[in-house]
Amino acid sequence: MDEEKKRLAEATLAQIAREVSVCTRCMLHHSRKLAVPGEGPVDATIVFIGEGPGFHENEQGRPFVGAAGKYLDELLAKINLQRQDVFICNVVKCRPPSNRDPLPDELAACSDYLERQIQVINPKIIVTLGRYSMARFLPNGKISDVHGQSFRIKGRMVVPMFHPATALHQPSLKISVERDFAKLPELIAKADESSIKTEEKPPENKSEPTQLSLF
Ligand code: URA
Ligand code: SF4
Repeated sequence: MDEEKKRLAEATLAQIAREVSVCTRCMLHHSRKLAVPGEGPVDATIVFIGEGPGFHENEQGRPFVGAAGKYLDELLAKINLQRQDVFICNVVKCRPPSNRDPLPDELAACSDYLERQIQVINPKIIVTLGRYSMARFLPNGKISDVHGQSFRIKGRMVVPMFHPATALHQPSLKISVERDFAKLPELIAKADESSIKTEEKPPENKSEPTQLSLF
């Protein structure tokens, strides 16, 4: 990205964050303290998408700053990445009360902000953390089946992974999430290649034709 383009893109990201901070599009604005738009460089190669802010995120207005965030930092460090190298955000930008799952109308109301962030950043890889962010890209995917695989969706590589907060307390998921993270350096290299070959199969989808093609 040249400097002028980067400056414009940063201004757009900042504009989205401003809109999010005062947004009243769904009920979650009533209970939030601070909205959490997401953060990271506008030219990030990877965007990580979690579920929604928790207690600490709501206090600080920053994504993944609690226990799950600490674990995410560790997972990144193992592949020689730092938080500052990647963009981190969530499918809903305001904390659901008592950390409950986001509701369909909340996900729908918030969707446009994330869409715009992805457009501006134009990442090579999107890593979804948890079920709700996976469902945005793979509505019929089952996280236990698809985690760690790479899917080509709307021209972008999407890699679903377990949520670090879930994995943190379940040894088997911890092994999975660490294995999946370990694949990222290779996937980054693969996403850089101009000709990407189809190697993996999409998940079974019997109800409707699949809209996915794969790397
Ligand atoms: N869990 C999430 O999904 N997102 C955060 O920002 C923090 C914890
Ligand atoms: Fe707006 Fe999203 Fe917050 Fe709902 S969760 S109030 S749509 S920013």
